[in-house]
This record gives sequence, structure tokens and C-alpha cells, in this order.
Amino acid sequence: MTDPRELLREYLRQRAEMGETELVLDSLTGEELRALYARASAAVPAAVPAPGAAPAGGRFPANVAPMRPAADAPAAYAGADEIRSLPTLAAVREVALGCPRCRLAETRGQVVFGEGNPDADVLIVGEAPGAEEDRSGRPFVGRAGKLLDLLLTSVGLPREQVYVCNVLKCRPPGNRDPQADEVEACSPYLLRQVELVKPRAIAAFGTFAAQTLLGTTTPIGRLRGRVHEYHGVPLVPTYHPAALLRSPAWVRPTWEDLQRLRQLLDRA
Ligand code: URA
Repeated sequence: MTDPRELLREYLRQRAEMGETELVLDSLTGEELRALYARASAAVPAAVPAPGAAPAGGRFPANVAPMRPAADAPAAYAGADEIRSLPTLAAVREVALGCPRCRLAETRGQVVFGEGNPDADVLIVGEAPGAEEDRSGRPFVGRAGKLLDLLLTSVGLPREQVYVCNVLKCRPPGNRDPQADEVEACSPYLLRQVELVKPRAIAAFGTFAAQTLLGTTTPIGRLRGRVHEYHGVPLVPTYHPAALLRSPAWVRPTWEDLQRLRQLLDRA
């Protein structure tokens, strides 16, 4: 496909399928846009207007169909307030599965929304899906996930009793660090998960989850060891299970943190 108008049409169709309802061309001036369109028009012979097409000089070039979402397009862009007002986890999940709120929508395999007991006492929060999670659509299913399951079981919290999710619902390409705007775009989902699950405690696994939820850059080694708070919910930060696979010396402090979590639950 080398016809520039065909390329543009295909590009717009893909954006529509991703749920976008408007196109912002903010890096081009009007002058540059007109020149771009003139070059594209000159590159192909004038097309015969389709019956019913907009007249020349109208809002759309005669042979470019107005962009409209495909019949099977994912859910459209939902704003933060809209996400925060969704009534159930199932409704939030449905919106998240079609989420176009950040660039990770273009590279993800599957959205990893989170799963588990919707009435859990404990909400587990990790960083972001890895390759296996991106393939399966489920959080913590790889090697780190197996270790997480073991650790949780050791303090009487089997996986089916807790709710597990991540700060980011989509995998950053190559497992790179999440970027600040991606975290911001994704945060309404996590906040709504906390509001709907209403956990009695949150366990934040890893530097990234702990620092993001606590709004700090303090290293995890200094955050762990005591109970903090996230939107009024007690939060226990600890090392990420993937870090424990590399540094077994951190297993003991992690287990102590999980004992702290256990004591919190047993107290009331
Ligand atoms: N690491 C995370 O932080 N979350 C996952 O779901 C998997 C690996």
C-alpha cells in the first residue's frame, strides 16, 4: 500500500478501532498540514467522488470516509471521573480492557486488569505485567508470581483469598520502567479497584508500587518495615518477588513484612 491517502485512511481506521474519536495534529501548523494534503493529493490521480460523498472543499476529502469506530471497536476513551464512578469491578474491567488512555495500548498483548476475591481483606499491588502476564491476561503468573503465592500462603493468605493487581494494567515494552504519564493515565483504575474491593490492608510489592502509591522517591529498603497509608487504607510495602529471586537475603525481611500484614488483619 503506497498511496498516501490509502495509508492515511488505514491509519485513521486503526485509531478508530482503538476507540479514538478525534485526531489531534498538534505538531503540525495549518500551513504544514495544507502542504501535506496537497502533496498527498498530487501523488494520486483525482478520485471519482463516491455517491453521497461530501462535496469538494467540504469537511472530508471526497474519497476519504469520515472516521467512525468499527462495529467491534473496543470501549471508547473513558475519563478519570467516569472510571471513578463505575459501579462494579466488572464494569471497570470492561472499560480497562479497551483502554486507549496511554501509549501502552499500542504495544500490549492483553490488558491485565487484576483478579481475585472481590471482597478480599488484602489487595496485592505489583508493578506492571511482564511477558507471561501480557500473554495470559492474568497478574503474577510467571516465576515471580509463583514465589508470591508461596509467600502469601506462608502467612495464611492463599491466592484465592486476596485480590491481585498492578499499578499499570499494560506491559511496558521489553519490561522497561513505567513512565510517569503512563502511571497517571492508569491510576483511576487502581483507585477504583481500591474503592470497590475495600480491602482492610494493601501490600505493595516492589520499589515502584510502593513509591507510586505513597507518592515518594524514598528507597524501598527505607519504606519497608512499617505500616503506611493509601487513601485511608493501611499499606505494607515490601520487596518485589522478582527481586527476591535475585537477592535471596531479602526473603527474610519480606516475610517479616508479611507477618506485619498478618498482625494487622488479626488485630481487629
Ligand atoms: N511483576 C509484577 O509487578 N506484576 C506482575 O503481574 C508480574 C510481574
